[in-house]
Order: sequence, then structure tokens, then C-alpha cells
Amino acid sequence: MKKSWIAAIMFLPGVTTVYAQNSLQKVYPVNFSEVSITDPFWKPKMTTVATATLDACVSYTQDKTGRIRNFEKAAQRSGKHEGIYYDDSDVYKAIEAIAYSLKNHPDATLEKNTDGWIDKIAAAQLPDGYLNTYYVLTDINNRWSDMEKHEDYCAGHLIEAGIAYYNTTGKDKLLNTAIRFADHIDSVFRQQHKPWVSGHQEIELALMKLYHHTKNKKYLELSDWFLAQRGHGYGKGVIWDQWKDPDYCQDGLPVKDQRKITGHAVRAMYLYTGAADVAAVTNDTGYITAMDAIWQDVVFRHMYITGGIGAQGKNEGFGQPYDLPNASAYCETCASVGMVFWNQRMNMLSGDAKYVDVLERSLYNGALDGLSLSGDRFFYGNPLASQGGYNRREWFGTACCPSNIARLVSAVGNYIYGTSADAIWVNLFAGSNTVLQLGKNKITVAMETAYPWKGDVKLMLSPAKKQAFELRVRIPGWLSEPAPGDLYRYAEQQNSQPVIKVNGEPVQFDVDKGYAVLRRSWKKGDVVTMELPMKVRRILSNPKVKQNENRVAVQYGPIVYCVEGEKDVLKAGAVILPGSTSFELSFEPSLLGGVNVIRFDAPVVTVSADGLSVSTLTKKITAIPYFTWNNRGPNDMQVWLPTSIQRVSVND
Ligand SMILES: [Zn+2]
Repeated sequence: MKKSWIAAIMFLPGVTTVYAQNSLQKVYPVNFSEVSITDPFWKPKMTTVATATLDACVSYTQDKTGRIRNFEKAAQRSGKHEGIYYDDSDVYKAIEAIAYSLKNHPDATLEKNTDGWIDKIAAAQLPDGYLNTYYVLTDINNRWSDMEKHEDYCAGHLIEAGIAYYNTTGKDKLLNTAIRFADHIDSVFRQQHKPWVSGHQEIELALMKLYHHTKNKKYLELSDWFLAQRGHGYGKGVIWDQWKDPDYCQDGLPVKDQRKITGHAVRAMYLYTGAADVAAVTNDTGYITAMDAIWQDVVFRHMYITGGIGAQGKNEGFGQPYDLPNASAYCETCASVGMVFWNQRMNMLSGDAKYVDVLERSLYNGALDGLSLSGDRFFYGNPLASQGGYNRREWFGTACCPSNIARLVSAVGNYIYGTSADAIWVNLFAGSNTVLQLGKNKITVAMETAYPWKGDVKLMLSPAKKQAFELRVRIPGWLSEPAPGDLYRYAEQQNSQPVIKVNGEPVQFDVDKGYAVLRRSWKKGDVVTMELPMKVRRILSNPKVKQNENRVAVQYGPIVYCVEGEKDVLKAGAVILPGSTSFELSFEPSLLGGVNVIRFDAPVVTVSADGLSVSTLTKKITAIPYFTWNNRGPNDMQVWLPTSIQRVSVND
């Protein structure tokens, strides 16, 4: 291969993808705007978000809370700030989600309403570029005094929203507002060598998006500068002066010296996403070395089987290794969304499918659980057990989660395909169409699948001209192990490998970092099929996770299951799942939006009326996908089922 730069123009709006032979970046994800989703699993969810979820976001942002009013008042420079100091970010995230959704679901009324919001946001900006309704409406002299106060975090979400809205609508008012704020931050801090540690990271990844959008190196340098601020004792504000806990926002050590995960889960995910974005451009291996170690710490010692992270409510973040309580699991929806972001970047830097395995687990389980099937109820925390009474809610005082899950689902097309100089990468399995540019050739790709309910995947490739390249199809890690590392293992080991055929003929293939590599000269109409053997699998925890001792979880494909109780009929915590259990799987089209359920006969603990004797009665149990629980009322629920009567309880 040539040592020179190989450039290829992608269809991304305003973006040229440069494949550099010497770059750390191995995979270039295909933007969702280039991927048309036809999938029976994802398409209805995107429609639900476009209607119900965005309706909820708009109504709570504009009418039921003061978030938009704050901008109106800030434009007048008078009035009382309503809500919490970080509430501006919810407006920006709602606009970002709206922008993604408008791409697939044009809606003139919604767009017009959003234009109105943007006018108010732009009017609230100060002449020097500063924009934050909390400080404009309280005391502007206090701005940039407490690094925890989310001013730069809000700026980051403004930048993401500005780019997203421009990409969908071509309207640049919000983007220009965001650029003025970014320039303000650059001039106040970096250019004056004035330290600033972001108390809630986000601006780093946003500035990298702005760098890619504008090609202005200033934003790359500013993002890298933000990363370099951490770990030097520069912090000022409540985290440092009152809580004395710089680890809370990953400020205990310089980023490149960090090896363990600490603190607030969402802050950590956004930080490392930004660090990966910077490393992909600067080829700074210091960030990669740090993140490799931190990723292992997260996935090998701190991750729930649902892909959720951040076990503790008290810091919205990480606790001790292997301490994974189920009923009190915090597992903020945003942290699972952040896992999707960060793992995509780690895959991008390594070309290793293990990161997509984790991404997929967080996406289909921990993140999707945050959204009701109706689209207008949300979990902030996503526990793995409940004694009942825990419900998704219409909204939250701190409302980060609803718009975060909305923007993730609307843009799920971001995670399906990738390209590199001589390869097409297939990461997630979802019905979709796209046209990829490989060199001077255009490759039309279509995928059909009933994943995650069935393991058959069909890929149709049609290069405009016959061309030799690699098709790299991810072999899902769940075929051989529940997750990378030894935190979880299957109760029964089995060697499951996919069968791959090209034009109906089984083919041999090399496996490289979890991808089946199919090298050939591809021509119009080539069809690749992959059969992923799916079966119900029982999962055991590493014995160091005391909460899961003598308990087992159940999975089918990438989907984690749970038992949901039914009032006066079944207590989820009373269900025992012995090792000898056999399972029946069936697709129920009318249940919970159409899901695979797992049925099994199980001993269920019953207590006599006088409460003095305990016995078991065999009942037919129906386990449902974890992400669909709490759509039939505030029932009790359990993911980790006891294998014997001694462990019956949901108190862990
Ligand atoms: Zn959240």
C-alpha cells in the first residue's frame, strides 16, 4: 500500500474523510445522515422518539418549565432565573435530538418552533460571546468563578446542537452563536493561559465536532487544552473547595496518567470520548494508553450485565471494584448513552470489535431501558432489581436523560457502518441502506435482519464498479462470552461461530479483532448472509460480585432478560432458576411492542398464610427483555435470579 495520504470524499455534510496510513484512527464511522433505517426493531423506536419523546421534551422545555423563558429574560437582561444552573443544556440537547429526528421525520411545525427557540437563544448571547442564562439573570460578575457550574458544559451542548441543526436544516444561526461562545472561551482562557478545569466534561468532544465541521485548528487545540488542564490542582469551586474530591470529575491526575475509573460516570464517559476524538487527530498515544487501562477497569470490574455503569447514587458514579448492587444500581441512562459514545471512539481508534460488543450491550439494555415503549416516560436510574413502586417518570428536575436517549435513538444509524481505506465495516445489525465511498467507487449497501430477535443477517453489496476490498463483519462477542474480561461468563461454554455465505456458498474467513474478514473482488448484486446461532444463555458473575452470588442472569442474543412480577400473581423476587432449567423461546408480536420472551418452569417460593412455613410451587415463568420492564405498571423486577431458595430476595 502507498505510504501517502489517501483521501476519499464522504457524503457527510461539509466533511471530507481523510484516511491516513499513519493515523491512529482505524475506522471512520458512517454518519447517521447517510444511513436510511428500515429496521423492524429501530424504525418504530425512531418514530416514537420523533413524536412522543420530542413532544415531551418540547412541552417540558417550553411550557411546563422555565427553560425557554430563561432565554427570553436573559435577552432582556432582567428577570428571575428559573430552575437549575445547567438547565440551558436541556434546551440545546433537545434541539440536537430534534435536528437528528428531522433528518428522518421532516416536521415543518417542529422546525418552525425550534427556529423560534434559536432566535431567543441568540438574543440572549452577550456581545462578548458569553451565553448562560443562569449567570446573566443572577450576577454576571460571578461568571467563570466556579468550575462546577456547567458553563462550559452548556457551551458544549450548544456547539453540538448548532452543528446538528445546521447539518439538517442548513440554518446557521445557532451554529454561529455556538462559534461565538467557543471563541469567547478560547480568548478568555487558552489565549490568556488562564487555567480552567471543566467540572462537567462535554466541551472537549463538542469542540472536536466543531473542529471537524469548520476545519479550524483552534478548536482542536482548545479541546486538547481542556484535556491538559486536568490533574494539576487548578480546580476551583464546590468540587474542589467543599467536597475536596477532584476524582469526582476525573481531575485527580492528568488524563494521560489515569489508569482507574473514578467519580461521576457521565463526566467520565464524556471526558474519554473527547480524549479519543483528540487522539484520533493528534495521534497522541498518551491518551490511548490511559484509556486502554481505564476501559479495562470499567468493563472488567464496574460494568453491569446490562452495560449500565455508575453503581452509586451518592456520586452518580463509580464505587469499589466488583461492588454492583442490583436494587440500588444507579446506572444513569446518560451513562449508558456515554458508554455508546466512548466505545464507538475506542473502536474507531483500534478496529477492535470488543468495543462494539460493549456498545451494543449498553445500547440494547442499559440505555434503551431509560425510555418507555410509549416514548414519553423516562428512567434516570436503571436498577437491575425492584421491589415494585419504581416507575419511569414524565420528566425530572435535572432533565439530562430524556433528551440524551432521544438524540441517541434518532441517530442510531451512527453505529452501524464504518469505512477505512480498503474496507467496509459492519458493526451493528440493523435493517438499513447506505451508499459508501471507497476510493473513487460508490458501494451501495443494504442490510436486512430481524436482529436482535433472530440471528440471520443479509447484506447486499452493489459497487458501481467491480472492486477488491475487505468486508469486515463483526462477529458478536456474545457468541462466546457475555462481555470482555472475566466479570461475567456463560454457565455453559459452547463454541458458537457464525456461518457466513457469499452468494449462497459457505466461505472460509479470517477473524481479525472480532471481525470476519471477507476479502474478494466485489461486484454488483453480491449477497452475504450470516447466521448467528442464538440460544438462551445463563450468565454467572465473577464470585467477587457478592450481590450476584448463587444467582444467574439470562440472555438471548444481545438482549438481557428479567422477570417482572404481577400484582397478586407473582413476585419476581420469589422466582428460582436452578441449573437444570430448560427454556422455550417465542416471539410475541403483540406483547411489549413485539419481543422474544423466554418461558421456563420454575420453583416459586410461597409463604403460608400464617407466615410460618415456606414452600415452593412450580409455575410457568415468562421472562421479558430487561429494557421493556415497567411498561405494565410499577411492578417488581429482577435480573439476577437465585439458583436456590437460600438466595431468594430482591434486597441486594
Ligand atoms: Zn442523565
